[in-house]
Order: sequence, then structure tokens, then C-alpha cells
Amino acid sequence: MLFEKLVTIFEQLESISSGNDMRAILSEFFTQIEKKEISTTTYLILGKLGAEYESNVLGIAEQNVIKAISKAAGVSVKKVKEIAHKHGDIGLAAQELCKSKTQTLIPITKLTTNDLYGTLNKISTISGSGSNDTKTNLIVSLLQRTSSTGAKYICRITLGTLRLGVADMTVIDSLSIAFTGEKSNKKLIEHAYNLCPDVGLIAEIMATKGLKGLEKINVKVGRPIKMMLAQRVNDLEEIKKKIEGDLVIEGKYDGERIQAHKTKDGTINLFSRRLDNNTSQFPDLVDHLTSGIKAKEFILEGEILAIDQEGNHLPFQTLMQRRRKHNVQEYIKKIPVMLKVFDILYLDGKELMSAPLTDRVNAITKVVKESKNLKIAEKITSSKVEKVEEFFTQMLQEGYEGIIIKDPNGTYQAGTRGWNWIKWKKEYVEALTDTIDVVVIGGFYGKGRRSGVFGALLCAIYDTKKDQFVSFCKLGTGFTDDTLQKLHTTLVPLISKKKPARAKVQNEMIPDVWFTPELVVEISGAEITKSPFHTAGIALRFPRYLRTREKKAEQATTLDEVRKMQ
Ligand code: ATP
Repeated sequence: MLFEKLVTIFEQLESISSGNDMRAILSEFFTQIEKKEISTTTYLILGKLGAEYESNVLGIAEQNVIKAISKAAGVSVKKVKEIAHKHGDIGLAAQELCKSKTQTLIPITKLTTNDLYGTLNKISTISGSGSNDTKTNLIVSLLQRTSSTGAKYICRITLGTLRLGVADMTVIDSLSIAFTGEKSNKKLIEHAYNLCPDVGLIAEIMATKGLKGLEKINVKVGRPIKMMLAQRVNDLEEIKKKIEGDLVIEGKYDGERIQAHKTKDGTINLFSRRLDNNTSQFPDLVDHLTSGIKAKEFILEGEILAIDQEGNHLPFQTLMQRRRKHNVQEYIKKIPVMLKVFDILYLDGKELMSAPLTDRVNAITKVVKESKNLKIAEKITSSKVEKVEEFFTQMLQEGYEGIIIKDPNGTYQAGTRGWNWIKWKKEYVEALTDTIDVVVIGGFYGKGRRSGVFGALLCAIYDTKKDQFVSFCKLGTGFTDDTLQKLHTTLVPLISKKKPARAKVQNEMIPDVWFTPELVVEISGAEITKSPFHTAGIALRFPRYLRTREKKAEQATTLDEVRKMQ
């Protein structure tokens, strides 16, 4: 295909901002491209040379591109810089200056997308002395074979700044429309893409083999898989609605997530959460995995943590010092690391993503030889929310950031933020440095395990100016069964048939029973936000019961004080 055809598409995409319009243009275009060209064209539309996980954006130094424009357009470097400065964009400078570019003596053929892709790849591999001149000359050869508008895009691609607003997902949608006639097959394509995050390859398979071809895409050791993510809940009780029966509760470690791939030849590659290849940063971890995992081939996941010489984990900021290209060996000694292994997706010829978590955990226990640098994530299994809270507190005491609650029957859902993993972090409950003393003005009957007691309490703060107790939050976590029982005993005598005159509550928050405002409890929470549902006009996110206070209702935290905490 002639590059100029792609330039027309670039121009159309650049002029619109609606996602739907982009999908319409791209899907139409995909049906017109020759099948064998579809992957390279896809990469070019994304301004890349390959899959997301390969380092594939060119990022040539501005100086080289400016020099190339100057040569191709026959103007001075100073002039190019001036025009680029005027537009704030080297691409636009190329477009303006190349309008009247010098003609070469030899008649030159028009640029095709294949030529362009080939030359860009060549540029990406050149290094060593004289490489800058070679790169510049190759860019000149490209600029000479295209229109001035084409020059604009070539410069942007080489600089790594194409940014047409097209993302991998826009391409996936467009492929679905182009090759299946509808968007509804998007889920299937997305699934394939999560297993194989190479949109060029997905496009090629779609064009040549259709959906049937995509169904055959499977895990390939060495090619990263989009990572599974965790959902969050507002309240620990909510977990029971999301996962039935037993829960596997693991520590949530605040380090860097890594997906480690060992191929049959013994090579280990480490991929970051963004699927960047981070292997060169952690050669020590590669050694620990080589000696500590008894398997020929694997894909496993864990969190890297910095440790001290005794093996105690250190804060995330310390680990960040290992994000470096230089002095890696020096920093391996200075800041050793350990991996907390929490999942395994492939083991010796067997794909494990579709196996339940318990099977995957068993596989981890079998193959991981624990050492100072390699540990299995600590966990408990329980169906009780109190046990979850207990383990959470224990993890915080050990200096971790929280817990991840997992469904023991859950599969590994690549690229998905689903309910098989739920996170619960200390920020949710501890972001406020100060605690707040609230007055209990209402109660909601408990259900299930909490039947017979109040499952949640409507709490208010004190508005001194109006002498009113204005509703502020609904409190449902932080209680043990024992405290719920004790609170019930204290609150029953306070039940009032009518809404107490000084309690101010919106219709959305009417409780099952009213209490005379007497009991004061201390709570913590994550943050104070505006709220249309609470009379205070503000509310506390993730309120958590701490203890009862020996205070009068009017001594509770005031509306003014809470406003100042915002
Ligand atoms: P956050 O900022 O809350 O960590 P996130 O968007 O980076 O959120 P999520 O998937 O929402 O990531 O939360 C889970 C993250 O927690 C994982 O990406 C992983 O890095 C980390 N993590 C720590 N311990 C575990 C564990 N035991 N199991 C799974 N993930 C864990």
C-alpha cells in the first residue's frame, strides 16, 4: 500500500475526536488493506513498530530529525528550529518546509507502508559510532519519498509522538466491526488480546483466520499476559456478597508487581505491570528464580519488595532506587530484593489460568523453594469477616499495605478487574490522621450473621450553631460480634418511637429505629467528601468503628471541626 493512503487516514483521524468516528474510519480502512499488510499498518497507526510489550516506539533524538528535515527541504537547521518553535511541533515544521523541498536528481519511487516500516525498523537497530548520521540519512530518504503531509507524520513517528488518539482498544473495536460486522464480538477479541497483548498480531489473525483463529490463541511462555487486577469494596461486609463461602486472604505487598516467564531454554524474563521487560533491572531476582523454582517452564506472578540484610522488607521508595539502567550490580548489593509469589499461570506444559486458585496455590507450594529472597505470599483461609479483619490488622502490624481477598474457586482473569480478587487497604480506613467522635442517632437491623443486633449505625456530628445532630455517615465496619452485641445492649434503651427533634436526616437515610442522641463512638475513616445524602453536607468514606467514648452527645466532634479536616 502506498504510504499516502495511510496519510489520508492519519489526516482524518487527526481531525476528529469522537471515538465512534475513529472506529468507523478504522473499521472501513481495515477491510481495504491487504491481509499481509494489516499488522504493520496497525503498528504504524499506533505510532509503534511492534507490540506494546516490546520496546517499540522509536523516540529518535529531536536533533537528528531536525537535521533530516533541513537536508530534505534544503533549508538551514536554524530555519527548521525557528519554524518548529513557531508551531511548537517538529511535525508541522516538516510539513511547512517540505512543501517546497528540493528534488533529487534520481527519480525516486513513492514510499509504501512496507518500505516505511522496514526503514523505521532498520533505524531502531542502528547503534555505535556514526549511527546518528546513518539514522538522519535514512529519515531524509523517507522524507524525500513522501508528500509534505506525509513528512509531518514520518517525523512524528520517528520522534515517538504520533498520538492520533487511537489506543489498542480502539483498534480492537474497529477490528470487531470490520471482520465480524458488529461490536458485540469485542469481548472475544479482548480476551484473545489479554492473553496476547500484540494488537498487530491480533489484527492479522482476525483478517486471515477470523474469530476461529482468535479462539486458538493461547498462553505462550515468554509473551506477557495482561495482568489480573483487584476490585475494591466500600465495606468489608460487601465481600461476602461478592464471594460465597471460604475466602483466601493474602497480604497486599506494596512493591512492584512482576510476571516472570521461564522458557524451556532456561531463559527468564520479567515483565512489569505495564508489560515492560524489566529483566535487566533485576538479574539477582532471575538468579533466585532459577535456583528457587523447581520447574523447566513457568509463568508466575508476585510482588518484588526491597529487603535489608536480615530479609526484612523495606518501603516502596527504597525499591524505587532499583529502577535504573546503570550501576545495577552496585545496587543489587545495596538494595537486595525478595519476591512474594502469589500466583502461577503456567507450569511445565500446563496452562493454569483456568484452574481454581486453590490448585494454583498448591502448584506454588510444590515448586517454590522458599529462601530469604523468595517467599510464598502469606495467607489464611476463612469464611468469617472477623478473621478477615484480624488478618488485615496483622498485615498492617507487619508493615504491609493491606490484604487481597481472593475467591478460592476463582480463575485467573487476564486483564480484568473482577470480583475474584478484592483489595482492602489501610488508606481506606486510616487516611484520616484524626479520628472523629460521632453520635449514634439511628440503627439498621442486621441481616445474616448480624441478625438480632444492629448491623449498621446512623451517626451524626454536632452542629453547634443550630444545636442539631446532623447525619454524617452510616457505620458498618470495625465491629466484632462481641462489640455488636454490647452496642445492642447499650442502644436498645435509647430507642425512640419518633425521630428525635434535634436529629437531622435526609429521606434517603431514614433508619429502621431512632435513638435518643446519647451514645458517642469514636470512628476513623478514609476521607471526608461532599454528600447530598447526609444533612451535614459532607460524609466520611469508609467509616470504621474504633470504640465507645465516655462523652456527652454535645461533646462529639462538631460540624465546623470536621469541615476543617477536609
Ligand atoms: P493499588 O494502587 O491499590 O495497588 P493497582 O491498580 O495498582 O491498585 P490492583 O490490581 O487494583 O492494582 O491491586 C492489586 C495490586 O496489588 C496488584 O497489581 C499487585 O501489584 C499488588 N499485590 C500485592 N500483594 C498482592 C497479592 N497477594 N495478590 C495480588 N496482588 C497483590
